[in-house]
Amino acid sequence: MTTDYLHKLHAVFGHSEFRPHQEEIISLLVSGGDALVIMPTGGGKSLCYQLPALLRDGVGIVVSPLIALMHDQVMALRQLGVRAEYLNSSLDADEARRVEQALNAGELDLLYVAPERLMTERFLAQLDRARVALFAIDEAHCVSQWGHDFRPEYVQLSVLHERFPAIPRIALTATADAPTRAEIAQRLQLDNARHFITGFDRPNICYQVRLDARGSREQLLRFIQEKHAGEAGIVYCLSRKRVDEVTEWLCSQGLTALAYHAGLNADTRRNTQQRFLAEDGVIVVATIAFGMGIDKPDVRFVAHLNLPKSLEAYYQETGRAGRDGLPADAWMRYGLGDAILLRQMLENSDADEIHKRVERKKLDAMLAYGELTSCRRQSLLRYFGDVMPAPCGNCDNCLQPPQTWDATTDAQKALSCVHRTGQRFGVNYLIDVLLGKDNERVKTFGHDTISTFGIGKNLRMDEWRAVFRQLVARGYLLTDHDNFGGLKLTEACRPLLRGEENLHIAKQVAPAKRSKAARNHAVPANDDPLFAALRNVRRQIAQQQGVPPYVVFHDSTLTAMAAMRPQTLDEFAELPGVGDRKLQNYGDAFLQVLRDDQY
Ligand code: ADP
Ligand code: ZN
Repeated sequence: MTTDYLHKLHAVFGHSEFRPHQEEIISLLVSGGDALVIMPTGGGKSLCYQLPALLRDGVGIVVSPLIALMHDQVMALRQLGVRAEYLNSSLDADEARRVEQALNAGELDLLYVAPERLMTERFLAQLDRARVALFAIDEAHCVSQWGHDFRPEYVQLSVLHERFPAIPRIALTATADAPTRAEIAQRLQLDNARHFITGFDRPNICYQVRLDARGSREQLLRFIQEKHAGEAGIVYCLSRKRVDEVTEWLCSQGLTALAYHAGLNADTRRNTQQRFLAEDGVIVVATIAFGMGIDKPDVRFVAHLNLPKSLEAYYQETGRAGRDGLPADAWMRYGLGDAILLRQMLENSDADEIHKRVERKKLDAMLAYGELTSCRRQSLLRYFGDVMPAPCGNCDNCLQPPQTWDATTDAQKALSCVHRTGQRFGVNYLIDVLLGKDNERVKTFGHDTISTFGIGKNLRMDEWRAVFRQLVARGYLLTDHDNFGGLKLTEACRPLLRGEENLHIAKQVAPAKRSKAARNHAVPANDDPLFAALRNVRRQIAQQQGVPPYVVFHDSTLTAMAAMRPQTLDEFAELPGVGDRKLQNYGDAFLQVLRDDQY
């Protein structure tokens, strides 16, 4: 039995082994059981229903709320020789009729359907007559009324169980804490489903964060040029204005950058999305509006030029990098201003107090993550309830442990300066007082005579800034919005003032260098002529077929091709990602290059 699965996995998808849980899930569905699958983005969820749909009699019905994703998946499946179609509002009446005819004639392996269409009596009646292999409910967290992605039609999906009790069902999602999980199981009536929960670790993503907003555009450019020249990436900014600015600037530096935000019209946005998928090396600069439903495996970096509002958002956004499992970077530069702006947005929102309290906690967790001096992955996973016993070796803090200094005494000076000046001044002014600058403003307020005037000459201005940032980030100080953003003391600063708590601060560090292990698995440099030639062949095929390059072959397959240099079709078949259909269709084209001595 198991060898059947493996054989099919290799013949159709070209993979030689299963990822964690895939095989168990597949075998459960094939034997008619139900499953609830929580797997991180890029974990390989689709295979969990695609393969059993091929192994069981009849058509696999996949419910998905994301039209763009349906289209991508169907395109990719057709490349593999799988008979796949979709039904959603993007089809015209003729196209929809053709798909329904294929369904009625039993000519489909997989059919992707939007939930509102699935739930029509007309379509359900068609399913009564068809032979259905299984139901897959993708993005299952959409049934949860607690989440941001709630879709009312999803709640009605429990009808499937009542109407088709004998057909196995699988619900899948990347985001579900324990309560949401229970809600999914209950609302979809998955009472007898086995739960499969895999960890949230994305080991191939290297996390790099720095609190340093000065020249962040230039830092970004250098990062892209040094590590990701010619590669696809997403840059997230907080505001539309900033998106436009950064896009324009990257373009002026010779990169292919496209802006994406809600202020652009639908055509422009669609075009941007299309180019991002279809072309190599496009960078999309976007607000958070971009990304949901973008299923591009070879995004090599996700950069943040602002702090996200929570670790949930950060994890989701950075998770769009490296879905193919190859090394990818999650890179962030942010400033204290981000934290202040996010707090303002939060306080000014119409949410109720309970909600705001939750949001405040989330923002604090995000800030603490930014200023972390220990392994980022350990801390990120801890936040999601995953335990990672040892530091990861693939984040900035692991690769280059930041040096810290004991800033306790300086923190006390800063807090006392806030106190003595009446808790109504901002950072710049406070630093002036600490450094003993007797300028007009300081004199006007008479602060050149208080005890904290000039007691901070041991630190430079930027070091004082870091002290204040930490004090705000860790909740010792808060920004008073009713008073022009002046800083106020909180209850939390008492133990620090009494010396019962210490404050350690990271020294500014040089950019992290990749570990050798990570480098060895890296995507070949763009200047490798063989790899470039293989990419060329891929691009030509993609253009002929009207599909994005990664639908022809992923970077991982190309990398293996360049490394193993197969010379025959048999050898070519051994490459990861090469199934029977792709071997037959594309093998020769690539072999021509692989056999060429000039590379
Ligand atoms: P998810 O839906 O969980 O985000 P996908 O189903 O899109 O993830 O899979 C992510 C990537 O992993 C895809 O590129 C897919 O081809 C690859 N993948 C899935 N299963 C395997 C496997 N057993 N071996 C190798 N690659 C796999
Ligand atoms: Zn680490």
